[in-house]
Amino acid sequence: MRLEKICFSVCNTVKDALDRDSNELMSRESIAELVSVAENVADTETIAYRQSERLCGSVKCEKGCNFCCHMQVCVTAPEVLCVFARIAERCTPREISALKERLEKTYPQGRGLTDKSYGQLGISCPLLVSEECSIYSDRPIECRAYVSTELSACKAARDDYLHWNVPIDQAKYAIYKSAQAGILAAVTAKGYDPEILELNHAMLIALRHSDPVMSWLNKEPIFEPARISAGDPDYHAIQPWSPSFDDWIEPD
Ligand code: SF4
Repeated sequence: MRLEKICFSVCNTVKDALDRDSNELMSRESIAELVSVAENVADTETIAYRQSERLCGSVKCEKGCNFCCHMQVCVTAPEVLCVFARIAERCTPREISALKERLEKTYPQGRGLTDKSYGQLGISCPLLVSEECSIYSDRPIECRAYVSTELSACKAARDDYLHWNVPIDQAKYAIYKSAQAGILAAVTAKGYDPEILELNHAMLIALRHSDPVMSWLNKEPIFEPARISAGDPDYHAIQPWSPSFDDWIEPD
């Protein structure tokens, strides 16, 4: 199947993962279910595509390598809420307060920056602990999507983001970002804003809040300050399903 068709199908499958009754709001369970469907569908379709097509090269990502953890990460609200729930469940109060401290330090540096300016600063993701992702099994879709086939290019991009030239597995990236587009479409169908958020700022908002899940479910715009501006010239790169995700979703 052509990649574009697979991407449409992934997006639509995720979009339809929730109850189609648009009058009913989402629940705590449906947030987790939606993210899990998105990850599983993207994973399954990527494996199937790799088996049927020639890959551009072998993946060089490995444990302990984190050159790519110094760029802006774009997430949806359900992804942030899932990461928040896992952190609240698994981390000690001391670990949570250390994470908050790192986020407090980091997010003002990247606040309001375009994707390019953010990358140029080389800000370390506050979720990196001892050079490894502390939420690896629950990392956002964009982090899962990005796999490199050339380690030296990753290092070069880390040192000089303006001349970023990393060969990534484009098919995997497109499939995963389509799953993320499906999350946006699913929440939009339930009457929520289709927000694209900057990970650090959104995580800090969640951790400072007494019950971010309930507030978001009640449609309070708690993540508004963390929204990534559509005025960012790299917005199309952030959302490869652009020009607008409405166009990206195949009509029924
Ligand atoms: S969430 Fe994890 S994988 Fe993603 S940028 Fe941060 S440390 Fe890296």
